Amino acid sequence: MTNVSQRMLNLGTARSEIREAFAFAQARAAEVGAENVDDFSIGNPSVPAPATVAEAVHKLVDAIDPIKLHGYTPAQGDGQARGALADDLNRRFGTSYTADNFYLTAGAAGALCCALSALSCPGDTFITFAPYFPEYKVFVESAGAELVTVPADIEDFQIDFAAFDQALTPNTKGVIINSPNNPTGVVYSEATIQKLAQVLTKKSKEYGHTIWLISDEPYREIVYRDTPLPWVPNYYPNTLVCYSYSKSLSLPGQRIGYVLVPPQAEDADIVYAAVCGAGRALGYVCAPSLFQLVAAECTGQTADIEVYHKNRDLLLNALRDMGYTCAQPDGAFYLFPRSLEPDARAFCERARKYDLVLVPGDSFGCPGHVRISYCVPTEQIQRALHKFEQLAAEYK
Ligand code: PLP
Repeated sequence: MTNVSQRMLNLGTARSEIREAFAFAQARAAEVGAENVDDFSIGNPSVPAPATVAEAVHKLVDAIDPIKLHGYTPAQGDGQARGALADDLNRRFGTSYTADNFYLTAGAAGALCCALSALSCPGDTFITFAPYFPEYKVFVESAGAELVTVPADIEDFQIDFAAFDQALTPNTKGVIINSPNNPTGVVYSEATIQKLAQVLTKKSKEYGHTIWLISDEPYREIVYRDTPLPWVPNYYPNTLVCYSYSKSLSLPGQRIGYVLVPPQAEDADIVYAAVCGAGRALGYVCAPSLFQLVAAECTGQTADIEVYHKNRDLLLNALRDMGYTCAQPDGAFYLFPRSLEPDARAFCERARKYDLVLVPGDSFGCPGHVRISYCVPTEQIQRALHKFEQLAAEYK
């Protein structure tokens, strides 16, 4: 047999529970009709990109020489595009970033891989908080480091600081946070971010090296009315922001995002250069050139997130009325209720009897819960409510 990397073989063949659930839903839809299957497995935006995206594409295709438009850009991205992104953040968060602080990437996944590879040295560990995006483990290990997870505070899914304290060691190189969160939809409060910044500052001093904060923010713009979303680098300057237009502009297939290295960060120039080096080593070359310019044209825009807001209210209120327990989700497009039996996998199996497709929290390092992706047509939620009710009735 051909010798291949065992790790890559495992990654390429291992079952992702999200993908498996999605495949189940597709297979059932082929059997019994899509209208009878309520698939809440996958986080693919269900609202189209705003009209300004298509307008920008047409405008750019008409106005720019195709050799330039579709050509390589500088590795860190088109300078004017990066400048437009800096202006947008400066307007919104009172910062003073420039084009030189941005490295454009293939989505948040590309941004995380570049940031983690840039920082990782032998023996380093990165901490994240359960429940967490399962790919963190893959990305951290690919960077040659180890992922350490802190158990969830299942009351409100803010940070359990006592448990965090136990996880920190002199090997801690960084901490990955994700707010608004996949899979809980929870937004970290200002108090949480302040306390996190205090702890990281204190521990960096104690260990004699900076502990980096990696703020994974693909859902930054998907926050519901009146929920304050702290701008993390304003609380802790040694933050690398990993952003993506996959969710905010509904462009997951176009693969566009960025790493922001704030100029206030320690040795910002060196860290930025290492991010560029990581992009090079990972073979990214440059982010997709057309969508660099589209992102710049569409600063400040989002897809119609009111649809998600409506879906959240409808589903959350109904589930709570039925007796499900669910922490307050103020952003992203996920709910993470407790499963009605300790084994969330068994609960999801039972839900499948109704062609109701959910993902067990075990995949996110938080057993006893299920993830419901409500980025689906509102009619699907209306149709599925009686299934959730029948499912709950089985446990009464
Ligand atoms: N981080 C989180 C928390 C996510 O949920 C996702 C995608 O679902 C990503 C990163 C990767 O996003 P992208 O499509 O921009 O690579």
